[in-house]
Amino acid sequence: MKNEFLLFHKPFISEDEVNEIVDTVRSGWLSMGPKTIRFEQEFNSYIGSKHSVAVSSWTGGGHLTLEAFGIKPGDEVIVPTMTFPATAEIVCYFGAKPVIIDVDYDTLNLTAEGIEKAITPKTRALIPVHYGGQPCDIDEILEIARRYNLKVLEDAAHSLPAYYKGKKIGSISDVTCFSFYATKTLSTGEGGMICTNDDEIAERCKIMRLHGINRDAWKRYSESGSWYYEVVAPGYKYNFTDLQASLGLPQLKKVDEMWEWRRRIAARYTEAFKDFELFELHGIKSDRESSWHLFPIRLNLDMLTINRAQFIEEVKKYYVGLGVHFMPVHQHKFYNETFNLSDKDYPVASSVFPRLVSLPIYPGMSDKLVDRVINVIVDVLNKFKR
Ligand SMILES: *Cc1c(COP(=O)(O)O)cnc(C)c1O
Repeated sequence: MKNEFLLFHKPFISEDEVNEIVDTVRSGWLSMGPKTIRFEQEFNSYIGSKHSVAVSSWTGGGHLTLEAFGIKPGDEVIVPTMTFPATAEIVCYFGAKPVIIDVDYDTLNLTAEGIEKAITPKTRALIPVHYGGQPCDIDEILEIARRYNLKVLEDAAHSLPAYYKGKKIGSISDVTCFSFYATKTLSTGEGGMICTNDDEIAERCKIMRLHGINRDAWKRYSESGSWYYEVVAPGYKYNFTDLQASLGLPQLKKVDEMWEWRRRIAARYTEAFKDFELFELHGIKSDRESSWHLFPIRLNLDMLTINRAQFIEEVKKYYVGLGVHFMPVHQHKFYNETFNLSDKDYPVASSVFPRLVSLPIYPGMSDKLVDRVINVIVDVLNKFKR
């Protein structure tokens, strides 16, 4: 059998998306319009949030959220180090300080205790990241937020869908932002969604996503629109488009089916690896359900003669692609130089990161492909066992 290269991720695209795109192109309405509004409504009812505001990316949505929170220069916002740098960079946009904290060993999520230690009189908000799709300890985090009067923006770039004590992520705290980037669990190429139960935040984000125009800016070229509009603040260009909605609408219809695929793959990996001593599995808590966006493992490097980079190269020889999520934010040049951060303040992230590898997990991966990944990984690691 010829082995094709097994990519780390592949979007789950069918003729439905192709047809919807063609329909949009033929309609002539390419930017934000009726399909964006429909996508927002359908996403909103799927999540069970009061408002959903579609935007150009998670990063744009996070920026708008912090703007709506009123973040100002000198404010502090607490973020975990185990995330994509976007989580911290949106804080820097305001001249505010991202206070980057270490994470829990089992889940790589930030903890309520970690947050509480990092709070100062300047702290204004928290951005918990649901690493890999597994929700953080939301109750404890919201309790601290209430106690110290802090805003909460959940980084749910990985967690569509995920559940915390039976509640869907996106319906719980002040604001939750999702990402529809190419590798995420619902993809529109680029895109994001702000979910909130707060009317004022939703209204502010809607205005600021499109140049600060006071209402329904996108309608100004439609039959029901008006050429007259007023700019009430210097806004941004973070709107979603109907071309993106053409991918999002059919993707949303199968978001649970895609989740089911990933859950099956995760269960197969977990079963295959449960007694394997050359790496550790990620810790899973029983009162929540992960989206299984990632399936991270931690190599037991002291039992191996190769390091993580060599492991990834060896596995590649067998046509299997792996990922690494993420280089901790505190290790990136800008953050460690600007905020004077060092590994010794991040014992968990700094020790786990060199061991961390993400296995392929996406809808469309057959049992046969999953078994191929399992066999390749076990064979390579056994070959380099100390
Ligand atoms: C992908 C990602 C983002 C950024 O999402 P974009 O839509 O690309 O802006 C933010 N946070 C985390 C944890 C991510 O994985």
